[in-house]
Amino acid sequence: MTFDDWYRQDRLPHIFCAGCGNGTIINCTLAAVDQMGWKKDDTVFVSGIGCSSRAPGYIVTDSLHTTHGRAIAFATGVKMANPDLNVVVFTGDGDLAAIGGNHFIHACRRNIDLTVVCMNNQIYGMTGGQGSPTTPRGCFSTTTPTGCVEMPFDLCELAIAAGANYVSRWTSYHVKELEKAVKVGLETPGFSFIEALVQCPTAFGRRNKFRQVADHVEYLRAHSLLKAKRDRLIEAGEAVPDDMFVVGELARRKRPALGVKP
Ligand code: SF4
Repeated sequence: MTFDDWYRQDRLPHIFCAGCGNGTIINCTLAAVDQMGWKKDDTVFVSGIGCSSRAPGYIVTDSLHTTHGRAIAFATGVKMANPDLNVVVFTGDGDLAAIGGNHFIHACRRNIDLTVVCMNNQIYGMTGGQGSPTTPRGCFSTTTPTGCVEMPFDLCELAIAAGANYVSRWTSYHVKELEKAVKVGLETPGFSFIEALVQCPTAFGRRNKFRQVADHVEYLRAHSLLKAKRDRLIEAGEAVPDDMFVVGELARRKRPALGVKP
């Protein structure tokens, strides 16, 4: 079996825009799931609302496409009702960190045995390009026409502070690293959070001077700062560039968790 076998072929082609990064993240996640040797009957994918949340509809397992922001709440119910199931959540930055923000932090606090993969395109894509809680300062959206003036959430720092057992961040450029990170997340008991920064040419890219999809992917690559390098800068007392984001494994710990398989 390969990860292709996890796709619901009769639902293809997908609805994502040409050049969207979401497909890469779904591929990486399904490759990791396939390596786990999980059975389809024992695996459930859950999502909320948004472009990323269309993902479970393309996968050959039971799935829940739920209401906006509530994917983690539904996933919690599935996992607590039947801890034998493997439960994976697909979400986006608006779904997870705005209307779903409280579900996110409390699922981290409870450390429920879920794996959450967040496709962070830093904007509301499906609803027309409004600013989200992760839109960077200075970036343009339909609700920040002169540039965003708010500080964005660092979703990984939020997950670590709230108690998640496993946290990592990569981008759509880092395919192999992301696949490995999702696999570690799937293997780790408790709440696992994997953030994947993705290009969104339709809602974000065209408003923020990324004329080509490749320009945005290159931006993600060039502005990724490996955690080990960030730590060396801090040890040396040097400034960490504030236009870069830290990538790598950011937390792996063994706090008590809920819903772990007996
Ligand atoms: Fe992807 Fe953006 Fe299109 Fe949504 S709007 S499918 S995130 S490119």
